Amino acid sequence: MSEELNPFEIAQRQLDEAAELLKLGPGMHAFLREPMRELHVSLPVRMDDGSVKVFKGFRVQYNDARGPAKGGLRFHPDETIDTVRALAAWMTWKTAVVDIPLGGGKGGVICNPKEMSQAELERVSRAYIRQVGPILGPKRDVPAPDVYTNPQIMAWMMDEFSAMQGHGEPGVITGKPLALGGSAGRMDATARGGMYCLREAAKILGMDLKGATAAIQGYGNAGYYAQVLGEELLGLNVVCVSDSKGAILREDGLECEQVKAQKDETGTCVGLSDAEIISNEELLELDVDVLIPAALENVITAENADRVKAKIVVELANGPTTPEADEILHKNGVYVIPDFLCNAGGVVVSYFEGVQNAYNYYWELEEVHDKLDKKMTAAFKAVHQTAEAKKVHNRLAAYLVGVARVAGAVTLRGWV
Ligand code: GLU
Repeated sequence: MSEELNPFEIAQRQLDEAAELLKLGPGMHAFLREPMRELHVSLPVRMDDGSVKVFKGFRVQYNDARGPAKGGLRFHPDETIDTVRALAAWMTWKTAVVDIPLGGGKGGVICNPKEMSQAELERVSRAYIRQVGPILGPKRDVPAPDVYTNPQIMAWMMDEFSAMQGHGEPGVITGKPLALGGSAGRMDATARGGMYCLREAAKILGMDLKGATAAIQGYGNAGYYAQVLGEELLGLNVVCVSDSKGAILREDGLECEQVKAQKDETGTCVGLSDAEIISNEELLELDVDVLIPAALENVITAENADRVKAKIVVELANGPTTPEADEILHKNGVYVIPDFLCNAGGVVVSYFEGVQNAYNYYWELEEVHDKLDKKMTAAFKAVHQTAEAKKVHNRLAAYLVGVARVAGAVTLRGWV
């Protein structure tokens, strides 16, 4: 039988395993297996050539027992409702594992920003908010950037929502530009949180990260800053990076500003001089110390997990590893820092952004870094200690921590 790759079925299966170990009652288990609320919208948008194109969009509010729903918006041609459901579930466990007073949600629009003008992108963004706005707000549900969305898109969305309310409402969305109520330190927060986790993992494994080799799959916001901060904070030697066009490898290390310049100029990092071109699949199997998947779901599977040679996998992407692959990596002694712990830095600083918007008082960068480090380190330790105590792999341990906290809130509210 071929491996299940539907992200929502994977998310449910992961939850089932945790539910059994936590001995959740059947009512609680059934409740946590499904989103509490979802909205499907259809967006008619005027294109630059005068025609009207109808886009499909979604917002899933998976669970808000611990606080308002929170989670990003993806603009991707392959988006599906099941992907959004899975990502919303993972946001629920993510906000719980880092212990911030928020629930989990996710949204998306099926579209390809690479083929759209800025004006078209703006019209899609505003149309999405006109349709989904009624279920959003700082006390209901707060979106943020994700795959192929960015601070400019957050700015248009905040503006549209504010116009609907008749007053400014910066707290409706996070990941905004600094000038519109964004937080210092939000841009690199996802990668920074992952690097703090990597630092803690290396301490446990007794591994020296200075000069350790690393490969990064994906060169969006998370992948790019993983290279910058991996070098700056930990002294990593990044030898390979990739994007959707392929991967580039240079044994003695790639210079991040050079890769960035190449990508900004040509749209891809492939083609950088003095770098060998390999495939995304080959990148995952390189003989490096640290592997950083920072792109999309289901890249480490039953098919290739046995060939992963890295000692530590730093999951900055959501859902990069399938359940079968998890078992294989665990058996092979690969130390996985699971996605909803590892990439939680983004939502932690989003939470800080919401707090600053509510106070209308803004923090210095150092304060954000310091608070982020404390949150990530505490979450990492909680997961690591659970993995040791229960003798389970790190992802299951992260589930045990996150799901127990959500179930606790559901019980206290008297829902189940
Ligand atoms: N999209 C990011 C994630 O998957 C950030 C979510 C947020 O800041 O709300 O965690």
